Amino acid sequence: LVRLRARLSRSQNALGKGLLTLLSREHLDEDTWEEIEDTLLTADVGVAPTQELVERLRERVRVLGTRTTDELRTLLREELLTLVGADTDRTVHTEAAPDKPGIVMVVGVNGTGKTTTTGKLARVLVADGKSVVLGAADTFRAAAADQLQTWGERVGARTVRGPEGGDPASIAFDAVKEGIAEKADAVLIDTAGRLHTKTGLMDELGKVKRVVEKQAPVDEVLLVLDATTGQNGLVQARVFAEVVSITGIVLTKLDGTAKGGIVIAVQRELGVPVKLIGLGEGADDLAPFEPGAFVDALIG
Ligand code: GDP
Repeated sequence: LVRLRARLSRSQNALGKGLLTLLSREHLDEDTWEEIEDTLLTADVGVAPTQELVERLRERVRVLGTRTTDELRTLLREELLTLVGADTDRTVHTEAAPDKPGIVMVVGVNGTGKTTTTGKLARVLVADGKSVVLGAADTFRAAAADQLQTWGERVGARTVRGPEGGDPASIAFDAVKEGIAEKADAVLIDTAGRLHTKTGLMDELGKVKRVVEKQAPVDEVLLVLDATTGQNGLVQARVFAEVVSITGIVLTKLDGTAKGGIVIAVQRELGVPVKLIGLGEGADDLAPFEPGAFVDALIG
């Protein structure tokens, strides 16, 4: 966790440092407030949350009058925490039905880190003493099933797969059947994320979910989003949210960007919490999203 925190800080604290420096200026004139706004927008915080935050900061700084750096840091921390959502439930649920495995569908555009995230999540659950079955329902990308199976072998989870180009829903069905037969604690289903036709995607993801739900309720639909894609990622996220009901967001590749504000923007956009973050390609680089640690990393 300490290592993850360090990595998060390295990539993130440009934003908070910038904000603190600006807020510490003796005269907070309109130009400075504009610079503060630009700093937030550049960090991908998004237009509406930026305006809200700036308004709150203006009000609080005005009330404060003279201000020390410590006071500003505290104030900024509080306001960012409010924006990120300090008390939101971010548990990845895997216990919707008694005597059935918890079902987690992992969705998102190809290349965002879906398969990697599915593997890492399996590792977290197995380390927690849970038995896991993996469903390789991404039959679109040729190597996806192999990649998932390799993860499965590494972490000690069985992978159910079908023929290349096979029907994702039938593989998902088989994975859940296997999970029920083996009395597994969780079944994690990796899905394909081609975006070129929305109806195609809708049909496929909808079908996967319906077919799975014939056997067990789906606990979580996690949308994987690449933090480095910024506002483009948000557009994609919206398409997914329209076709399947998302219960949580996994923000990957936060190690590769200083634009941590995307956490705030995507939660606002989808009305769904960021539950997990990816901070590298390694097996241990998936962490629960902790608002406090995140905001601390932002402020530096
Ligand atoms: P998929 O097509 O969505 O299943 O994507 P993959 O799981 O194959 O991941 C695409 C690439 O992103 C791979 O090279 C992963 O190792 C890499 N990746 C995934 N998550 C992270 C992360 O949190 N940080 C970094 N730096 N790379 C990641």
